Amino acid sequence: MPVLSCAHLRKVFGTRVVLDDLNLDVEEHRVVALIGASGSGKSTLLRCAALLTEVDDGTIHLDGEEITDPRVDPDAVRRRIGMVFQAYNLFPHMSVLDNITLAPVRVHRRARDQARAQAREWLDRVGLADQADSYPDRLSGGQQQRVAIVRALVNSPRLLLLDEVTSALDPELVGEVLTMIRDLKAEGMTMVLATHEMGFAREVADEVVFLDAGRVLEAGPPQRVLGDPTEPRTRQFLSRII
Ligand code: ADP
Ligand code: MG
Repeated sequence: MPVLSCAHLRKVFGTRVVLDDLNLDVEEHRVVALIGASGSGKSTLLRCAALLTEVDDGTIHLDGEEITDPRVDPDAVRRRIGMVFQAYNLFPHMSVLDNITLAPVRVHRRARDQARAQAREWLDRVGLADQADSYPDRLSGGQQQRVAIVRALVNSPRLLLLDEVTSALDPELVGEVLTMIRDLKAEGMTMVLATHEMGFAREVADEVVFLDAGRVLEAGPPQRVLGDPTEPRTRQFLSRII
């Protein structure tokens, strides 16, 4: 059974169809890279999967449970899905540790000490233990983004959604974030990531999905989709980006 299964998703903003009969399955321990031009629907798809945006039609299943069912408690679902955005969105007036534990403690009512202990463990694992009490503005962009990823991991999510998490970083800081994602893959984390880093997609993804106007135009192993695309639109996109 896939961890994430999106079937016939449709999302409309005004008159604009942003997701159009979109289907996507993500098996456990797999990494799926979403590629496509700006505006093709990558962020919207991730936001729908994280229940941050409602779909207009279609279904999303997480571990076999339909999370688009209106009877489902969205907070309970969000606890099982971690999402990280392009801008790290850390609260500037809170320490790293408080940033990470805010949601688990306040929203998810986890015991404060337990959440903090787990947060420290994660910070240690990603080499940021000594920054636990720092404020975000003392950290580099790469460190801030790694903290944001840790924040998405403290609830031990089943699925991690990453939306262009390196796009806002200076080039020299991209590597440390990609390394962290590589390590998460090695640990078996199931991930969907929207990215413009084709080299990274080729290396880390089990499957590359090319979105075009809210549809999956082409999907398959990275070597095939990136190296020998069948669709002219994919070829055109890749020739512009690489
Ligand atoms: P991508 O991440 O691939 O660049 P997005 O999912 O952000 O694409 O956007 C897809 C389309 O949906 C774009 O045309 C964008 O302008 C539109 N869109 C996204 N969010 C909203 C919104 N909240 N309101 C109106 N239009 C939106
Ligand atoms: Mg986007």
